Amino acid sequence: MLSVKVFTLYPEFFPGPLGHGLYKKAMENKIWSLKTINIRDFSLDKHKTVDDTPFGGGSGMVMRCDVLANAIDKNIKDKNEQIIYLSPKGKKFDQKYAKKIIKKNDLNIICGHFEGIDERLIENRNIEEVSIGDFILSGGETATLVFLDAIIRLLPGVLGNMDSLKEETFENHLLEYPQYTKPQKWEKKEVPSVLLSGDHAKIKGWRLSKSQDITRRRRPDLWEKYKKNN
Ligand code: SAH
Repeated sequence: MLSVKVFTLYPEFFPGPLGHGLYKKAMENKIWSLKTINIRDFSLDKHKTVDDTPFGGGSGMVMRCDVLANAIDKNIKDKNEQIIYLSPKGKKFDQKYAKKIIKKNDLNIICGHFEGIDERLIENRNIEEVSIGDFILSGGETATLVFLDAIIRLLPGVLGNMDSLKEETFENHLLEYPQYTKPQKWEKKEVPSVLLSGDHAKIKGWRLSKSQDITRRRRPDLWEKYKKNN
């Protein structure tokens, strides 16, 4: 079972979309669990302060290391558990990282706010910084939802059909081929005839060539990786 703890100033974000459908069922089946920890409950003064102005000046506020450390230390008993801070400065999250991280039993995630968190916390609690992309969000909660969505669907038993993971975009450095369903004819457009042929080898070949085409045109970076591996 993957036990996830999320440290946040806004617990009402969770479980959010992760509390429905497949994810809810997976929670009931004890494939994963989610606990939210309200950082404010671990503030150290009567005003429940969690942030302060940055040393050196500048705009915005910074989340205090002592408050976050108190929340972490009271909730994470094993010092070896992984702690992730979702941050635009972190290493880029991708499918490869998602597959690696599901091997863990415990995952702790800190949602930042304002200008982020005091650097000393990152150093002293051995926190890994992970970014979900080159853009700035207002807080780590939405990033956490994206991060967990990408991870939990990979846990064995969450998706009804694990085969559907095999041919997805990013497997083997290719984008997925185009998909079609009923109706067979729609607004003067027909489904490509090869998909109706019943010839599985031919369909596989067509899909691979479409995948290659689309990857070469849209994602030269992935295309280079694909060429190296094939
Ligand atoms: N001042 C910071 C941005 C802070 S954004 C900087 O320039 O780097 C506020 C919070 O939103 C961050 O602490 C982080 O937890 C979250 N966040 C914003 N963009 C993110 C991204 N691309 N990936 C992951 N988390 C992000």
